[in-house]
Amino acid sequence: SLKGKTAIITGSNSGIGLGVAHELARAGADVVLNSFTDNDEDHALAQEIAKEYGVTARYIQADMSKADQCRALIEQAGTCDILVNNAGIQHVSPIDEFPVEKWDAIIAINMSSAFHCTAAALPMMRKAGWGRVVNIASAHGLTASPYKSAYVAAKHGVVGLTKVTALETAQEPITANAICPGYVKTPLVEAQIPDTAKKYDMTEEEAVQKVILERQPSKEFATVEQIGGTAVFLCSAAADQITGTTISVDGGWTAL
Ligand code: NAD
Repeated sequence: SLKGKTAIITGSNSGIGLGVAHELARAGADVVLNSFTDNDEDHALAQEIAKEYGVTARYIQADMSKADQCRALIEQAGTCDILVNNAGIQHVSPIDEFPVEKWDAIIAINMSSAFHCTAAALPMMRKAGWGRVVNIASAHGLTASPYKSAYVAAKHGVVGLTKVTALETAQEPITANAICPGYVKTPLVEAQIPDTAKKYDMTEEEAVQKVILERQPSKEFATVEQIGGTAVFLCSAAADQITGTTISVDGGWTAL
């Protein structure tokens, strides 16, 4: 059980982050939810988790595109046994047309936030004598697709950061690993369906089966519960010697 552990999940008012928060709370962890907004609905998500699993759950607003706000999130939480670096955005465009501000935002949110949050969390894990860093990378942390230059670069960067974090904590009771999901049906992916359909001149249904799931041999989306379950496993004692590696949850994508 993760009772008594505090998990901070960045970018967790939606999709995979929210799913991971639910699974960690189900396993007994207290959770800190985060996004850049500060709406009643955000705080309500934390209240629902607290009620459903009998844990402490808080929502803390912080913009993961800003270094100081990343570090402030961890400081404000006060303690961090489990850090899940999950916040992420996507933009699809050829390199020569890729908007510079989108490149900068994706590198900041998808990659640099993991660095800043890890930097702030490691001293807390050392003080507690136990820690887990779980980075939500992607199949695009291991392979590439056209038109996703910033995303693929950031996710490869996250996999590299994961390895360095693992080496710097190798002789301590702290591990760092990356989960590499294939396609998971979340708002991030749903937003790509119309664009993909337009780009390939297909119906949205065809775009899902022929383009989006083209490289996912299972031809099924992974679920947020499966990503959350993988995070819970990485936080278990069975995973004490698993560090600096990636776990793909991708329906066979990286076997192709
Ligand atoms: P999503 O859009 O549902 O969730 C993204 C989360 O990040 C949201 O909670 C959003 O509020 C938050 N976020 C965005 N910008 C932020 C900022 N500046 N500061 C703080 N939070 C911010 O998407 P998702 O699919 O759940 O993606 C979550 C992570 O999983 C991302 O890192 C994504 O790259 C990764 N991933 C997703 C898939 C997939 O198929 N959905 C596959 C592989 C990896």
